[in-house]
Amino acid sequence: MTHDNCIFCKIIAGQIPSAQVYADDDVVVFKDINPAAELHLLMVPRRHIATLQDCQPEDQALLGKMMLLAPKLAAEQGYRFDGNALNVEGNGFRVVMNTGPGGGQEVYHLHLHILAGPRPWKRM
Ligand code: AMP
Ligand code: ZN
Repeated sequence: MTHDNCIFCKIIAGQIPSAQVYADDDVVVFKDINPAAELHLLMVPRRHIATLQDCQPEDQALLGKMMLLAPKLAAEQGYRFDGNALNVEGNGFRVVMNTGPGGGQEVYHLHLHILAGPRPWKRM
C-alpha cells in the first residue's frame, strides 16, 4: 500500500536513494538526511501508516517489533546502554515518534527516530 507523493514510501520502494542500515519484511531503517545527532536513524514500516494515532490494535505487533529492534540497531551502531560504562557519549540512545504538527511531525509516514551521540544535538 504505497501512498502517492509519500517520500518514505518512495524510499522503501527504492525510487529515492537512502543510506539503508536494516530491512526486513516489515520495516526499513535508514539514516536521516539531516541528522540531529551523531547517530540519527529513521525506522519506518513498509506499510504506509500516516501517524501513531492512526495505528490500530492489529498494529500492536508491528509497534512492539519496532521498539524491540531499536536497541539492537543502536547497539550495532555502537550506542549500547551499559549502566557501568564511564563513556557517557556512547552509552544509550533516544527514540522519538513525532505525531501531528503539534508533535513536530513533517513526514506523514510513521517513523521512529533513533538518536545517539555526544551533545549538543541539533533541533529536530
Ligand atoms: P519528522 O519531523 O518526525 O516527521 O521527521 C522527518 C525526518 O525525515 C526529518 O528528520 C528529516 O530530516 C527526515 N527526512 C526527510 N527526507 C528524508 C530523506 N529523503 N531521507 C532521509 N531522511 C529524510
Ligand atoms: Zn508512505
